[in-house]
Formats: sequence, structure tokens, C-alpha cells
Amino acid sequence: MAADNILQRVIEELRNYDGEEVRIMEVCGTHTAAISENGIPSMLSPKIKLISGPGCPVCVTVTAVIDRLVELSLSENTCVLTFGDLIRVKGSKMSLSDAKAEGANVRMLYSPMDSIAIAKENPAVNYVFAAIGFETTTPVYGRVIEKAIEEHITNLKLLTSLKTMPQVIRWVVKNGGGIDGFIAPGHVAAVTGEEIFKDLAKELGIPFVVSGFEGEQLLLTIYALVKMKGKGGFKNLYRQVVTPNGNEMAKSCVNKYFEESDSSWRGMGKIEGSGMILRQEYKDFDAGSFGLDEDHMPPGCSCEKVLVGKITPNQCPLFGKSCTPDNAHGACMVSTEGSCYNYYISGRR
Ligand code: SF4
Repeated sequence: MAADNILQRVIEELRNYDGEEVRIMEVCGTHTAAISENGIPSMLSPKIKLISGPGCPVCVTVTAVIDRLVELSLSENTCVLTFGDLIRVKGSKMSLSDAKAEGANVRMLYSPMDSIAIAKENPAVNYVFAAIGFETTTPVYGRVIEKAIEEHITNLKLLTSLKTMPQVIRWVVKNGGGIDGFIAPGHVAAVTGEEIFKDLAKELGIPFVVSGFEGEQLLLTIYALVKMKGKGGFKNLYRQVVTPNGNEMAKSCVNKYFEESDSSWRGMGKIEGSGMILRQEYKDFDAGSFGLDEDHMPPGCSCEKVLVGKITPNQCPLFGKSCTPDNAHGACMVSTEGSCYNYYISGRR
């Protein structure tokens, strides 16, 4: 059967599905955005629920990290380098954007590697990169340190809040809103390899399907997960990018500079073995990332329930009322990978 016909049949089956409810979670912020951009929820039967999990790095960063960045940005002779979305997330008192309005030195970057040239050009300024992210981004931070060592740069440090997927997925299965299948994160799996998700599927008895980011592939992934409900199992539909063992060069860069640690997640607290920190021998590159565990949710915000699938964004009483992308209360509405933001812009009310 031609590929177009197969896809048409998949879409029809997903639209007309009338079996038991299936709750499918994606744990990657880029999947959240791709699902929304491709209008996938509108193609599904109401009995197939798509739930966004804790895969948006900006959304899961606790307020203590924001507070530390704000404090650093207001310190003399110090500049905080950050990705765009993080700048607008409120800490316990203010965001980096608020601090910038008060004269703090905050600069937005598109790539962590740009920090090398900036630090080199301005040796009298102390730079701190807000190093947040998952397995996908951690190798780039390793490369930043490698380059800084090579080029004898001493005025660049990282404030890290680096997360890893397996432990938080276990946490969500145990404490979240009930999940029948996971869309495994394609970018993370490209680094780690498919094996960790295959092992999780076996351990948890819940199906995992590794997916890319095209609309067609996401639909095929959802179709596969609907068929696998209650049976467990594993599939990799992103074989052109995700191999069994992943990217060995990226993994060895991570292992050289970082080691596993406990990590605090917004709304979930500290989860054992769910993060990465700089190894002792590279602590000179750390800007005070330890013990940043406190988390203060904005009043009335339910991000902590949204992030683990206990409620959908539109079940938050503030959604679309006082909380919109132009006036975001919580990180899930600030980030373009956040579930509240994507629910809002795709018109799911
Ligand atoms: S809609 Fe706004 S207030 Fe509600 S959970 Fe999302 S970010 Fe928080």
C-alpha cells in the first residue's frame, strides 16, 4: 500500500478510535511544540489523550536556580548568559528580565558555544552561563568547558541545572496521572541510544516508542502506542537518527566533565540520580550550582500538576484568563516548549 494511503488509514483509525481511553505522554519539549504545530490533537479521537510531561528544561527549573542567576546578574562585574525563554521565568522575587530592567547584566545567546568568544573578547568581565537542559544539551556544555580549558579562559563559569530522563520517567509513572504509553524523546535518545528506553519499557511494563519530530512520524508513533496499550513493548521509529547505543563521542564528553547527581525538579522535589553535576576536578567552572533546591510556585499556578499529567493546562483556573503567553504566571506558559503555552497557541481551551 502506498505511504499516503497508509497514513490516511492511520489518521482515520486514530480519529474514529472508540476503545478504552489511552493516555500518551511525550517527555520532550520539542515533541510538545511539534504536536501543537502539526495540529495533531485535533486529528485524534477524544479517547486518545496526549499529555505533556516534564521535558521542557525551562519548565522544570526550580526557582532557587533563577534566584541564584538573578543574584549573579546583579553582582559587580558579572554577566549572566542565558537562553531566551529562561530570562522571563520568575524566581521567588523576580526574573532575569526584571533584573535586567534594574540594570543587571544579562545577555541572551542562541548557542552555549558563543560564550567562548564573548568571554575571550571581554577578559575583565566574569561570565556565567545558565546551563539548563537534558542529555541532549549536556555534551555541548562539556564542549564549552573543553574549549575554555584549551583557550585558557578563566572568566567563564556554568550555573548548572542539568537533568536526565530515566529517573523522572519512573517518578511520573509512580506519582503522575496514569500513563498508558510514552513517546520517547528523539533528541535525547540520539545521544543516549535506544537501549535506556527499551529497558524502561521492560521494567515499567509500559510501551515506549522513539519518535522523530515530523507530523507523520508522530501520528505513526501515537498509532503504535494505541495498539500497544496494556501490552508493553518498545519500538524505534526514528532509526535514521537513533541507534542502539547512541552518540559515543557525546557520551564520553559528558562522562569526562560531569557525574550523576540528585536533582530538584519544579513541582516534583528532589529526585535521586536524575541530574548531572560538574566533576570535582572541574569545580572551578561552577558558579554555585549546589544546594539549589527551593521552589516557589507563583500564587495560583498549577505547573506542578501539569508537568506530571495530573491535570491538563486548561484545567488550571488561571489558564487563558489571567495567565496567557503575554502575561505568563508559570514557566509552563513562558516557554515555547511548555505545555500551557502550546495548549494556548493551538487553541485548546
Ligand atoms: S496556565 Fe499558567 S498558571 Fe496555570 S499552570 Fe499553566 S503556567 Fe501555571
